[in-house]
Amino acid sequence: MDFSLSDKEQKMWERSKAFTYEHITPRAHELEKRDEFPKEVVQKAYEAGLMNLHIPTEAGGPGLSLVTETLVSEATGYGCAGIATSVMCNNLAFAPLVISATTEQLKEYVEPLITGKEAKFGAFCLTERTAGSDAAAVATKAERDGDEYLINGVKCFITNAPQASLFTVFASTQPELKHKGLSVFMVPKSRAVKIGLIEKKVGQLNSVQSEVIFEDVRVPRNCLVGKEGEGFKIAMMTLDKTRAGIAAIATGVAQRAVDEAGKFASVRHQFGQPIGRFQGISFKLAEMGARTFAARWMTRYSAWLADNDLPNSKDSSMAKFFAADAAMQNAIEAVQIMGGYGYIKEYPAEKLMRDAKLLQIYEGTNEVQRVVAGNAVIKESVNLDTGFHVKYDGRDAPLM
Ligand SMILES: Cc1cc2nc3c(=O)[nH]c(=O)nc-3n(C[C@H](O)[C@H](O)[C@H](O)COP(=O)(O)OP(=O)(O)OC[C@H]3O[C@@H](n4cnc5c(N)ncnc54)[C@H](O)[C@@H]3O)c2cc1C
Repeated sequence: MDFSLSDKEQKMWERSKAFTYEHITPRAHELEKRDEFPKEVVQKAYEAGLMNLHIPTEAGGPGLSLVTETLVSEATGYGCAGIATSVMCNNLAFAPLVISATTEQLKEYVEPLITGKEAKFGAFCLTERTAGSDAAAVATKAERDGDEYLINGVKCFITNAPQASLFTVFASTQPELKHKGLSVFMVPKSRAVKIGLIEKKVGQLNSVQSEVIFEDVRVPRNCLVGKEGEGFKIAMMTLDKTRAGIAAIATGVAQRAVDEAGKFASVRHQFGQPIGRFQGISFKLAEMGARTFAARWMTRYSAWLADNDLPNSKDSSMAKFFAADAAMQNAIEAVQIMGGYGYIKEYPAEKLMRDAKLLQIYEGTNEVQRVVAGNAVIKESVNLDTGFHVKYDGRDAPLM
């Protein structure tokens, strides 16, 4: 067993931490007050090679591992979860295309967005007002019309949408088949895609979400990714890959909460000594550190599974809910350890608490991750012979 990073991964880890200390941590609070897309920092991240890490080399990308993505996400998430979300969103937007588009499609639609001087953005358009966790309920339709598809529908909560040049859109080509009728399309902004309501949020103010409106939007047939009806499968394969990225941002937030609270506990004196000397505080810090430690290795392991083409749905779901809960719990504890100062905007803890909450909600809520992980655990245990047989009404009671 070897927990060390490869030379390439170690370099990216160092580079993204240095970037965070120089460009994110010192500015995150000030930028947050503007409540807008942090264009300048994201452009710098692009120039530093921290974006589009998973795009294969044949399509102009660096073709880096998912483990590398988690390292960059953790480092940037440590500085600001909102900025990390803005920087890493292309990973989500382009993942369905990396999974199922042809090299020709990637070269035509994605390569121009990742090789220029200016950072360009994609947006992942799945959620609708009546289709959240239940992705199969998507009402956006794509109808074949000769050599084109005609797309109609409205998406909501779409990260980076106002900045995006390319939308990865989940639409139904055969509504009567429900999830089996879903398909994925690449839709360039130039195809008269409209941006609707910009969402006002509680936290992660350094990332932007909006509605995306498709009104008789026409795209050529080659904008279909994979085959008609493969959309749901592609969405699930995408989330298996990208959950580790959210878990990594969460690990960054959890670590920041430990560091800020630990620092405060060592300098804040009450009753004639640093509050960190009180067991009531040091035990909190020990648990915060342990949660972060577990979150980090669950995250990296689930990414390593994907990099090695091993099944990772269960492990990445567990990593996502565990790390997001760790970020939330640690942020709440950091506020508590800082007492009144924890609740004051000038101090870092309240932002961590607002930012962490979203990690439990987007890219599949923590409840939905538990549904995925719970089903997998039951499936794994049902055929195990542990030597113990459950008896119910005198019969062996199968669990599933
Ligand atoms: C800031 C932000 C950014 C986002 N970015 C994007 C994006 O870029 N692209 C995109 O497509 N979407 C995006 N989303 C949407 C996000 O993924 C959804 O909000 C999320 O999947 C939940 O859907 P919902 O909000 O409709 O909640 P609902 O699905 O209505 O859920 C409401 C509650 O019910 C629970 N619940 C639902 N089903 C079950 C179940 N089977 N078992 C137990 N509990 C359940 C949920 O966990 C939740 O607590 C974003 C959302 C936000 C807030």
